[in-house]
Amino acid sequence: MAITYPRTERAAQARAAEAKLAADGIDGVVFGWVDNAGLTRVKSVPLAQLAHAAEYGVGAVPCFDVALVDDSFTAAPSSSGPVGDLRLVPDLDRLVPLAAQPGWAWAPADRYTQNGTPHPGCQRGFARRVTEAVERRGLSVKAGIEIEWVVADAAGSPAALGPAYGMTRFIEHSDYLREVLRALTHQGLTVLQLHPEYAAGQFEVSVAAEGPVEAADTTMLVRHTIRAVSARHGLRVSYAPVFTEGAIGNGSHMHLSLWRQGQNLAHGGPGRHGLHPDAQEFLAGVLAELPALLALGAPGVASYLRLVPSRFAGAYRCWGLENREAALRLITGSTAGQASAEFKCFDATANPYLVVGGVLAAGLAGLDSGLPLPPETPSDPAVLGSAERLPASLPEAIDAYEKSALLRQALGLELYEAVLAVRQAEAELYSGHTDADTIAAVRWRH
Ligand code: GLU
Ligand code: MG
Repeated sequence: MAITYPRTERAAQARAAEAKLAADGIDGVVFGWVDNAGLTRVKSVPLAQLAHAAEYGVGAVPCFDVALVDDSFTAAPSSSGPVGDLRLVPDLDRLVPLAAQPGWAWAPADRYTQNGTPHPGCQRGFARRVTEAVERRGLSVKAGIEIEWVVADAAGSPAALGPAYGMTRFIEHSDYLREVLRALTHQGLTVLQLHPEYAAGQFEVSVAAEGPVEAADTTMLVRHTIRAVSARHGLRVSYAPVFTEGAIGNGSHMHLSLWRQGQNLAHGGPGRHGLHPDAQEFLAGVLAELPALLALGAPGVASYLRLVPSRFAGAYRCWGLENREAALRLITGSTAGQASAEFKCFDATANPYLVVGGVLAAGLAGLDSGLPLPPETPSDPAVLGSAERLPASLPEAIDAYEKSALLRQALGLELYEAVLAVRQAEAELYSGHTDADTIAAVRWRH
């Protein structure tokens, strides 16, 4: 079978990067990919091995396609158990020295078979395929993923006393936040905002929107960076959907705008709030598929302890202008470029490549069928009582996912079934656990 990535060019690119990396004091490069449980798995190589790794990849065990959040394994129809191997191939276009891990650089990786063909279970490959399908229609998508996290002390308690959005909390962690900002900026990322969030010990950062695959890469890089800076300050980090039982949790909201020939289709159109017809149909497509998409974007048992009404998590399948209780919050922004749709129902235990790929595939289906956008929900859906709740548990989301011909087709059978197996096994793993036990089991995993 044909090799589908340009091996020789990749090796040349690695050799060209080597001298600069060496001059920057880089000793090794870590290659990361995100599994179906949302955990980042890595391999690293010394700098001298980078060109070889860029050309041939490094070995990666396929059974991590069915790894669960607790590092145990389940099985899917395509699983080969302990047998077989894949190649983890770094994408050197995103190679970057890590500001908070001196001596190390990072690159996101794609997974290929040993023949050099794309591994059908590769989540990043899936996101790229769907992005290309969007581009074939003369459209493009800009995406940005917000990151919320809780800082904790060595004992695991929130390590900030100051109030929500409070200057007090900001002052408590002034040096730490400065270092987060500097590290992200040194890595070439454009930070838009950084602030204390609502929950105890919680902060949030947002970065500039970019292409869907790039946005997924960026969100992982940002999270690794925050963790590394935190470690240098003696802080632990949790991206878990719920840190404290009953309290507001960590979301991972995805902002998205659809563009054609440099024009943002969420601005200046004839539809509601300036939406263009294509944007309306695209968003209608995502709303229609949202219950099934939760199996990708709210993937764990704990995700549903966050996704409840009145916690700004977007627990209702509806949309509204600046409505923070709707799963889809429409934002008109102060400039044409800023208008976007924010999907609030997703959290950081999700694999972001699955989320962007799934959302784009659903949006394309909305375009294909000319789906009308349902009426707007102008106020708190919990008070209105008319909007539909999204799945309230992982088994409910699995149910919707199992019925989704759209996601089965978009993901391809192997990836679709691997995700399903992981979701079912995790639902089983924590069934019968108290909420407190489930929260404790996953609080530090992602
Ligand atoms: N922390 C909230 C969540 O779980 C979101 C708060 C907000 O940014 O609106 O998604
Ligand atoms: Mg927030």
